Amino acid sequence: MKTIGAHVSAAGGVDQAVSRATEIGANAFALFTKNQRQWKAKPLEEATIEAFKAACREQGFGPAQILPHDSYLINLGHPEQDALAKSRAAFLDECQRCEQLGLTLLNFHPGSHLKKISERDCLARIAESINQAHAATQFVVAVIENTAGQGSNLGFRFEQLAEIIDQVDDKSRVGACIDTCHAFAAGYDLRTEADAVAMLDAFESVVGVQYLRGMHLNDAKSEFASRVDRHHSLGKGNIGLPGFTALMRDARTDGIPLILETVEPEIWPEEIQWLRDQQRAD
Ligand SMILES: [Zn+2]
Ligand SMILES: [Zn+2]
Repeated sequence: MKTIGAHVSAAGGVDQAVSRATEIGANAFALFTKNQRQWKAKPLEEATIEAFKAACREQGFGPAQILPHDSYLINLGHPEQDALAKSRAAFLDECQRCEQLGLTLLNFHPGSHLKKISERDCLARIAESINQAHAATQFVVAVIENTAGQGSNLGFRFEQLAEIIDQVDDKSRVGACIDTCHAFAAGYDLRTEADAVAMLDAFESVVGVQYLRGMHLNDAKSEFASRVDRHHSLGKGNIGLPGFTALMRDARTDGIPLILETVEPEIWPEEIQWLRDQQRAD
């Protein structure tokens, strides 16, 4: 079964995100559990936690259908010790918030070397950051998102995701999320059905399909292999619709959150329905 949704707003409290997902016909969703552009957030209140859990129960969302995303400020591969420590503390807080909410997945961008350390050192730091977060938490799975490779962001090649995962001690608590816009911008073509299948094949052979814990389904305003991260609505960008049809017909995307981060929230209901419709063979 496909679980499909969008990254919905948590304005007014995380519990509010649940009904926003239901309203657009989603059976999966993503959210920020705190303001994604700030370092600090007040702790989740017990009443909010209970309201979130009750809403999920009532509206039929389990932890496998929910893919929280961490703050954009966090850099788990930061070259400088003080800044790295700040990022690790903020990531631990994000992990703890997920666990308080009963959420098992946490999606994040791996990190950036800022041209101050080697790629290899940066990837090792990211893995160590994940190991430290694991040691301080119970069950949350660190879900590494592939990036477009803008600036000095790592994780744009599947080999880099594999290199991080390889250095994580608890393999049961690490995974990956493929963002289609980022993959396309990083040089993984998705413009035909065969291209999209080949992209998943590449992920399967380099990382392993057992690590695929979510996907972000976005078309791209940016050009192929441009290393520029600009999302677009499905079918309106440079990827086009056939690749998304192929992804919806591939068993490797079963049972993981498939999340739209497309740029027109007003058409999410149509995009979700269109994705569902693609599962039927012509
Ligand atoms: Zn992301
Ligand atoms: Zn994404």
